[in-house]
Amino acid sequence: MADVIIIGGGPAGASAAIYTARAGQETLVFDKGGGTTRDVETIDNYLGFPEGTTGPEIVQLGHEHAERFGAEFVEEEVIRVGQDGMRYSVETDENEYTAEGLIIATGGSYKTPGVGNIEAFENNGVSHCVECDAFFYQDQTVGVIGAANYAAKEALLMLDYTDDVTLYTNGSELEMSAELQERLDREGIPIEDAPMDHLEGNGELEQVVFRDGEETDLDGLFVAVGQAGGQDLAEMLGLPTDGNYIEVDEELNAGMDKVYAAGDCIGGNRQVASSVGEGADAAINLLEEMRGATYVDYSG
Ligand SMILES: Cc1cc2nc3c(=O)[nH]c(=O)nc-3n(C[C@H](O)[C@H](O)[C@H](O)COP(=O)(O)OP(=O)(O)OC[C@H]3O[C@@H](n4cnc5c(N)ncnc54)[C@H](O)[C@@H]3O)c2cc1C
Repeated sequence: MADVIIIGGGPAGASAAIYTARAGQETLVFDKGGGTTRDVETIDNYLGFPEGTTGPEIVQLGHEHAERFGAEFVEEEVIRVGQDGMRYSVETDENEYTAEGLIIATGGSYKTPGVGNIEAFENNGVSHCVECDAFFYQDQTVGVIGAANYAAKEALLMLDYTDDVTLYTNGSELEMSAELQERLDREGIPIEDAPMDHLEGNGELEQVVFRDGEETDLDGLFVAVGQAGGQDLAEMLGLPTDGNYIEVDEELNAGMDKVYAAGDCIGGNRQVASSVGEGADAAINLLEEMRGATYVDYSG
């Protein structure tokens, strides 16, 4: 249980956490590691570092700063979000949590399964959200493409709709927990590791062709590559997305009470400074909503 859950511990998430924790809200920040900032070797244009700095240093200092006000960073991967009465539930690869408010700061999405023709079957057999679209594949033959915890969870969730589910790693090494591998095995979900070449079908997806020339019939293919990104999490909550980005209004609200998004996951200028500013704005606006304050428009 927390007051605020922030998904993402990059500049956007850490900046938001400084505000919510400093305002006395119990704040959990989920950070599974990685993210764009940690990969950047030189950052020359961020305020306060006249000699330049590195992405890992910015992330490290951001965590220390937010921790000073009591924010807790949790090194777990969020694989599912949902509603739990008046609160939001957040499931990780290890635990379940709830919070009154949610800030999504998962960074940019650069995931692509690298399968020929996949775009041609978007919404005609290819989906990015089991929660949203599995219903349309009841008792059909379905694949989930991915090799990590998120893919395993999506494949297991699919069992509510069909027993004919296969997990395709597409040649990637399995990165999922032993517990999830055992659950897949127990539930009879096979794991195929052959790399896919391309998809085929007449308007609707019909089959996948592997690089070794083998073919398999498929009615649906759910993309769950890497971790659940902002777009995936937004779709689980039924929030509007625009391509890989979460759509937000001027207040950075993502379309649901007390749910905000900030940083690269909402598009925009995609800079450290922008992400930090958006994290602060999202937190301030969430805090205002949590206090029940009414927004006053002074512009006119
Ligand atoms: C090559 C390159 C160079 C760049 N150079 C500059 C530069 O010089 N100056 C500049 O201002 N900007 C630069 N940028 C852009 C800048 O790095 C980004 O705008 C900024 O890092 C975005 O911060 P963020 O907090 O939105 O996301 P990120 O830093 O990507 O952080 C996202 C966080 O979310 C976490 N996360 C994601 N999904 C989950 C999940 N399911 N569960 C748990 N945790 C999750 C990740 O672990 C990570 O902690 C550069 C980008 C690139 C690619």
